[in-house]
Amino acid sequence: MTEEPCQCDDCQRFYREHDRLIREFPTLKQQQELNWSSLQSFRTLCGKVTDELQKQLSEIDSGDADTSQDISCNFEEISETLSQLENINAYLYSIEALMERIFDVKVSEKIELKFKEIAKEIAPDPLNIDRLILNRLFHQTPDFPDKKI
Ligand SMILES: [Zn+2]
Repeated sequence: MTEEPCQCDDCQRFYREHDRLIREFPTLKQQQELNWSSLQSFRTLCGKVTDELQKQLSEIDSGDADTSQDISCNFEEISETLSQLENINAYLYSIEALMERIFDVKVSEKIELKFKEIAKEIAPDPLNIDRLILNRLFHQTPDFPDKKI
């Protein structure tokens, strides 16, 4: 008997997102670009927040903190967050160095078609009518009586 994949809310959200990314970016080139932009946007946002928090920290330190700021965090919270964000930034930086290498690979249009074909197989459109019928059949199968819809 094969083990059922976990169906908790977090995992289900992950499966959906995972499949969506395959469905919407079904070629090698699209996956390369998607993952590169995803890494870069993560770095940009974390980097900006880090800069901002550093500024806030030095303002608090020098005593001229603007107390009317909408987000007023205390010194400890900011320094704790800063060190965590700096860790993330370091990890992302290392990943970037490795990820650059994925652009070394380019494939022909024929192989890209293969990618698209496989993508359709492993991440079919959940709103596709065939899939909906299949799902309904699956949920009605007596072998899975306690399956929640
Ligand atoms: Zn889970």
